[in-house]
Amino acid sequence: MMDAATIVRLENRHGSGAYGKRPTALVKGQGLYVWDANGNRYLDATSGQGVAALGHCHPAVVAAIQAQASQLITAQESFYNDRRAELYPLLASLTPGDLDQFFLCNSGAEAIEGALKVAMLLTGRAGVVAAKRSFHGRTTGALSMTWTQKYRKPFMGWLPAATHVAYNDIAAAHAAITDATAAVVVEPVQGEGGVHPASPAYLQALRQRCDETGAMLVVDEIQTGFGRTGSMFGFEKARILPDIIALGKALAGGLPMGAVGWRSAHGQIPRASHGSTFGGNPLACAAAIAALRAIHELRLPDHASQTGAWMMDELRAANLRGAREVRGRGLMIGIELRGRVTPTLKALQERGILALPAGATTLRLLPPLIITRDELAIVRDAITEALGQAG
Ligand SMILES: *Cc1c(COP(=O)(O)O)cnc(C)c1O
Repeated sequence: MMDAATIVRLENRHGSGAYGKRPTALVKGQGLYVWDANGNRYLDATSGQGVAALGHCHPAVVAAIQAQASQLITAQESFYNDRRAELYPLLASLTPGDLDQFFLCNSGAEAIEGALKVAMLLTGRAGVVAAKRSFHGRTTGALSMTWTQKYRKPFMGWLPAATHVAYNDIAAAHAAITDATAAVVVEPVQGEGGVHPASPAYLQALRQRCDETGAMLVVDEIQTGFGRTGSMFGFEKARILPDIIALGKALAGGLPMGAVGWRSAHGQIPRASHGSTFGGNPLACAAAIAALRAIHELRLPDHASQTGAWMMDELRAANLRGAREVRGRGLMIGIELRGRVTPTLKALQERGILALPAGATTLRLLPPLIITRDELAIVRDAITEALGQAG
């Protein structure tokens, strides 16, 4: 096996430079844990950026990939395929209402691009309203909606126009959404932007304003979807039905896959108006079928709701000296720190826990949804050690 130093050297030499990397080479994963090339084990409270909702290498997902890999890996959408025909109704059964028309793609950003095109095709308009602090991806269309300046700035002047309004501000959204708006794009809980949940009243007001103006309400469920926030989808807590949803991350148990879903009341989109070579490939579909069935059968949305609420109570009760606030929903948890997050991430890694930042000062926990209270207690204790306890 390649040693850690060689892995780091080769990636640094030939990689794009686009990623800020931790000096750790991950080579194996099982359930909650990942191992580095030096044999150190970590509890992965990142789920590989929200992907491994079932943990790493879940046996049902591994078996589905192995079986499909020797059957058929590629079959472009200009033909029909059995795995795809199985995935479509499964997805439709998980999404509420008539949110049951889907376009399959290969990443979250692609799902956002697709959602934007669907909104434009359905409305014949081009206006986009998004929220400040939002993250919707890094392809140019998605980047026009993403707020974070460090991602957008080098490309300003070249990106399509989008209006950004303060998150959870009903009056600002009301004013920005007009009969020229094609899409209103919103995360039910802002992830990258610092783990900020939308109030149900805000999502309801967006729904109402979209009804008044004929704009499409696009909910970005790429990070919040498939149980992460304690319900199958984050928007369900507000009891609204979006026109369009964007899916990704946990969708295919770790294989790259994204999807756009929309209400069949809006009909299908015109021939040749969109497409993808790899979209809906049988291998990713087989993995998604296995992953979604397992998430459903293990009742992971309920489990995330209960264990997430417990964990947030525990973290608040710990009275952390280095923290200002604990917020989140389900197993999407943010701890607003009094200082920068990088030293805390390092301190946690030294204690065998991998966690994420969300902006400069927020520690983000996205553990696999299969995590138990006992295992979360280990994370709680490491955080308490790293941040200290107030008097
Ligand atoms: C990760 C993420 C994206 C982008 O997904 P990629 O697969 O990285 O392109 C978009 N929106 C949200 C909310 C995300 O968390």
